[in-house]
Amino acid sequence: MENETILHDVWDREHLWHPYTSTINPLPTYKVDSAEGVRIRLADGRELIDGMSSWWCVIHGYNDKRLNEAAQRQLERMSHVMFGGLTHSPAIELGKALLEVAPSSMHNIFYADSGSVAVEVAMKMAVQAAISKSGSHDKTNFVTVRRGYHGDTWNAMSVCDPVTGMHSAFGSALPIRYFVPRPKSRFDGEWIADDIDELARLLEEKNGEIAALILEPVLQGAGGMWMYHPEYLKQARRLCDKYDVLLIFDEIATGFWRTGKFFACEHAGVQPDIMCIGKGLTAGYFTMSAVMTTREVADTISRGEAGVLMHGPTFMGNPLSCAIAIESLKMLGEKDMPAVISGIENILKEELTLARTSDKVADVRILGSVGVVETKDCVDVGKFQRKCVEKGVWIRPFGHNAYIMPPYIISPEQLRYLCRTLIELVNDEDCY
Ligand code: PMP
Repeated sequence: MENETILHDVWDREHLWHPYTSTINPLPTYKVDSAEGVRIRLADGRELIDGMSSWWCVIHGYNDKRLNEAAQRQLERMSHVMFGGLTHSPAIELGKALLEVAPSSMHNIFYADSGSVAVEVAMKMAVQAAISKSGSHDKTNFVTVRRGYHGDTWNAMSVCDPVTGMHSAFGSALPIRYFVPRPKSRFDGEWIADDIDELARLLEEKNGEIAALILEPVLQGAGGMWMYHPEYLKQARRLCDKYDVLLIFDEIATGFWRTGKFFACEHAGVQPDIMCIGKGLTAGYFTMSAVMTTREVADTISRGEAGVLMHGPTFMGNPLSCAIAIESLKMLGEKDMPAVISGIENILKEELTLARTSDKVADVRILGSVGVVETKDCVDVGKFQRKCVEKGVWIRPFGHNAYIMPPYIISPEQLRYLCRTLIELVNDEDCY
């Protein structure tokens, strides 16, 4: 019992809101004491192998010496200073490093504070650019594919999947967007030529109303963990050019090598007009995101009536976050990342594809360092996680998907154990 109260804090349960959890009947939360490498140490001393990278972001593992030192060095100079009218070396150095790895069309960078805010800013950029270019307010809506996820703020929610996303909770309060079916061609399968038809039809009909198409390139994350064919992005680019619609890539989850390329759009060799990054940007140390765009979009906005991009958050360009991001990019640059990710991918394939034969499993999908086991029935998150903790792993399933995207430093043995435990629990009747 004492152990239980150490692990599940009563005050926390009573007063702290955790994500997507009821205050009346909250899902259990486990108290963490510290974390190091790929291990999360709980308050009762137990250690868990982390399969989630704390929702995609902890790419180098926890409590990394180099990242800690980079933070400490920056703390001694300044932790924060406003970005309006001031600038600093960490922001400049990070910007230069980002443009070196970003698609070559990217030219201007806007630092924001979270993934959702980056999506808001990207959508505002698209609207301001469209108004400036056309001189009218007609072309200000958006199109996207179903089963997407782009964040929890107002406009980001509006382009999340209308059924599995948050539309039902907010109803008519949300702006109405255009949705086309998600691409059905699998990433590793044949390209199905009619996959693009709905988008082509919609853009032909509605392009006069649409400022931008927003997509998570190749891997749709929280909206269903679906991996689709890169050809879709090529065709989408062609259509956007034809109909003068901007193309926004949300690389918040997929960036920083997660799918085996620095950015997932590289699988298609396609360049966006606007691109959002976040999560892995600061290796999970601080909340920070960025929106990059072409010189043309940036200058079009600046030539518009407002003359400026209408956004400017308090923590914009936070020096501490920039310093960590610079160090993280250096660490990525020093490693043979294609080899690191293909090492993880090979083990995920060896281990997780075994789950295909299970009668509880609907599908198994693997791309880069992301492994997904789609179950026929939804697992019970609370029951599943209790068993995870008993077995010394940390996995948080969502809906029909039990998935892992571990820190890149995970050892082959740790990864195999994680995969085997995932399969064991997916097959466990008591997890439903
Ligand atoms: N876009 C994508 C693709 C994401 O996966 C997420 C976060 N899960 C977001 C946007 C929102 O980011 P944040 O939670 O940092 O606001």
